[in-house]
Amino acid sequence: MTSAPTTSPLDVLRDVFGYEEFRGQQAAVVDHLVGGGDAVVLMPTGGGKSLCYQIPSLVRSGTGIVISPLIALMADQVAALENLGVRAAYLNSTLDPYQAQDVESRLLAGELDLLYLAPERLVLPRTMALLERAEVALFAIDEAHCVSQWGHDFRSDYLGLGVLAERFPSVPRIALTATATPATHAELTSRLHLEDAEHFVASFDRPNITYRIEPKSSARSQLISFITTEHLGDSGIVYCLSRRGVDQLAEALVARGIPALPYHAGLPAEVRADHQARFLREDGLVMVATIAFGMGIDKPDVRFVAHLDLPRSVEGYYQETGRAGRDGLPADAWMVYGLGDVVSQRRLIESGEGDEVFKRRAMSHLDSMLALCETVDCRRVQLLRYFDEESGPCGNCDTCATPPATWDATIAVQKLLSAVIRLDRERGQRFGAGQIIDVLRGTDNERSRASAHQSLSVWGIGADLSESQWKTVIRQVLARGLLASHGDYGVLVLGEDTGPVLRGEAEVFLRVDPVKRAGAKKASSSRRGDPAATLDAADSALFESLRAWRAEQAKEQGVPAYVIFPDATLYGIVEARPSTIAELGGVSGVGLKKLDRYGPAVLELIGARR
Ligand code: ADP
Ligand code: ZN
Repeated sequence: MTSAPTTSPLDVLRDVFGYEEFRGQQAAVVDHLVGGGDAVVLMPTGGGKSLCYQIPSLVRSGTGIVISPLIALMADQVAALENLGVRAAYLNSTLDPYQAQDVESRLLAGELDLLYLAPERLVLPRTMALLERAEVALFAIDEAHCVSQWGHDFRSDYLGLGVLAERFPSVPRIALTATATPATHAELTSRLHLEDAEHFVASFDRPNITYRIEPKSSARSQLISFITTEHLGDSGIVYCLSRRGVDQLAEALVARGIPALPYHAGLPAEVRADHQARFLREDGLVMVATIAFGMGIDKPDVRFVAHLDLPRSVEGYYQETGRAGRDGLPADAWMVYGLGDVVSQRRLIESGEGDEVFKRRAMSHLDSMLALCETVDCRRVQLLRYFDEESGPCGNCDTCATPPATWDATIAVQKLLSAVIRLDRERGQRFGAGQIIDVLRGTDNERSRASAHQSLSVWGIGADLSESQWKTVIRQVLARGLLASHGDYGVLVLGEDTGPVLRGEAEVFLRVDPVKRAGAKKASSSRRGDPAATLDAADSALFESLRAWRAEQAKEQGVPAYVIFPDATLYGIVEARPSTIAELGGVSGVGLKKLDRYGPAVLELIGARR
């Protein structure tokens, strides 16, 4: 059913998308699909997964069917393709019957290169019958990890997609995801019946993201100072654990003049949709959100992702931070974390639903996340190792930039563990971190007087450390499992393997939390490869006028700004300062259709700035 390709994939890449070369494994994936093979593609966010099915859909005859769970994003995806001159459409519940009918007839008439469908729609007998009458170039199953029941984004509708193998045995299928764990990989392969597919697994490193994890003191003011000193006017996402936390923080940011919107599952659907659309369309908005926000958001110019609460797993952290810097330009993954996070996350797991096995798994996910926070080695090495990838120190994370000092905390930890034991034995009661620190420091307050802590043998044995130093110690000891926290009040109990430390047979080295140096921030604004940092005044002025022009265009068409041109292309234009249409066509990201449509306006802007 496949006629011989008339144009080569490379021609399509250059003419339609305006890119010079394929990246990484794109060319191999594209060739494999064009040749009729099935593929499983694991690539990090920003790795360029879309081209892996879009180009074969254009090269093969018939329509490429893209299955995506993200109905709210389909209109933008289609708008982006139409802007490139690609004939695309979507079928989902937001269309009225007439609109749907129109799309169906375009499909049957062979007038579509790409058609986006939600999984629940695809498996309807009516849709299956429609597709059987159409010429299908390929099936692309995006966000394929949604078929995995153990994953965090499971969608039951995805289970039905296995049927494609049977109903369309001769149509190539490609499953794509940015979820990297071997377990998810294996599960999606078997559930989607891709046993005979070729597997393309890319490196999961995101070299343009700078990873930073700082001790939490006052999360909100730390965030505000991070944004105002490093990311004023940038788009970013801030993740919080609770809905209330989200609402309050969004308000606080707005009060400080930082444009921000809240997003969580407790908001009405229209409000969520509106906030998401504004985040995608407007430049420089900060989205304050719970983890309900983000999957499939392909906004390329998110310059930072901040975490004010500890994510539940390294996988979650990686997915969330991965939403920064899809365009390959420098971006920050910034997090603050403290003792309270460890206690509250443990409590959430304990009091949550699920059986013992589930809870044990959740605890071990949390332990890996804590190990990432407390590491004295390169963050990226640790992060990639979690996905079975070995690498060397990256030079682009906080621990590489300022290797943390360690100190011999054996005696302090012995004192701490003894205090926990004494309190339990002599008071027959367990206490939270606050009271234990009071006892260690011999703090004479109402709380300690009421419990007559002064009479304990451990009273005041830790007066040599400050309250905040003890918090740091407890946080790290909890992270290592030498202490555990329990129950609603986060009382501390002995953890595992404390014997060797208590007997003096094992030493404990802890990291010294870095003290924030004034001016230390500036270093990162001159990050390697940051085009914004190297623009001179004239370039900046041109960049800003291009940005303003782009915003106008986007508003007129009702599409996100990046659909017109992503930032990376604007920087390319500023750098090249083309004076002819042909020169402009040489800039990465300027395809034929956009050249035709926007070329004259862009050249005029450049001319005016000469
Ligand atoms: P993913 O879906 O894997 O997260 P995308 O397909 O959204 O990634 O691509 C990320 C960004 O990289 C997009 O802005 C895209 O246009 C760009 N891109 C993809 N492939 C290439 C390429 N070969 N050359 C230049 N830019 C590319
Ligand atoms: Zn590093």
